[in-house]
Amino acid sequence: MKSLNPPLFDVTHTVEVCASGITIPERAQALLEALPVFRATEAQYRELGLTGQLFLLEESDAVTPAVDVDLMGVIYKSHFARKGSPSRALYEQIRMAPEYGICPLCGQRTVATVDHYLPQTRYPKLNLTPANLVPACSDCNKQKLASVPTRAEDQTLHPYFDNLGQDRWLVVEVQASSPPTIIFGVRPAAEWSPVLASRVHHHFRMMGLGGLYAAQAASELADISYSLEDVGGSAGADGVRQHLHGQFRSRYARDANSWKTALYEGLRDSDWFCTEGYRLIRIRRA
Ligand SMILES: [Zn+2]
Repeated sequence: MKSLNPPLFDVTHTVEVCASGITIPERAQALLEALPVFRATEAQYRELGLTGQLFLLEESDAVTPAVDVDLMGVIYKSHFARKGSPSRALYEQIRMAPEYGICPLCGQRTVATVDHYLPQTRYPKLNLTPANLVPACSDCNKQKLASVPTRAEDQTLHPYFDNLGQDRWLVVEVQASSPPTIIFGVRPAAEWSPVLASRVHHHFRMMGLGGLYAAQAASELADISYSLEDVGGSAGADGVRQHLHGQFRSRYARDANSWKTALYEGLRDSDWFCTEGYRLIRIRRA
């Protein structure tokens, strides 16, 4: 999970720009007249987001009597995010924010869409609120679906509000098998509150990160098996460990908790892997 700077514009801006592209006068007017509700809800959202309490926000089925949840859905899809609309540039700014276009929720796949952290079907007052709009890959977007947290512990991580710090928390267990088995898990950092620890576990499960990272790690092992055998053949277990340590440091410098950082640390620290495991990656045929 990667934290992101929130968008630099607020709901007043998204609503005004969106309304400027709506050619049905009554619809544009109704949207603009709802601005006080959007603003008040945005203020509440920011306050609760900072303390990890967004689950307390009340659901609703309308913004105002003239703007119900269905109309907000149409406004988001057919006006705000529509290609060629004046507000599409704002949508794109949100979507394109992550470095290298990598999804902040899984840290692996590429961003494909903008996800409503609190779903638009239940929180129409937050449909155009920039702080509620988070770039995501399609898989993470689907995993979340329209789920709504009812307890603090059940909230997935929010890239604009949650920062997990620099301590190592994503860890692997290396199991002796042929090929080696890599199991990813969460080790809560000392500075995390118990609620944050529960939320990271919840996020990890909900987004299916264990399976995603295990598949990536198996592929990475297959990629490096020849070079590890080279190093092991000439410099033995110490050489393999040193090589893995170098790979770990390079990954750590960029991201202290990417799956690659965790993988290389775990491999380096496994005596079994450094002495014989590295020779069991490739499937050998007689
Ligand atoms: Zn993702």
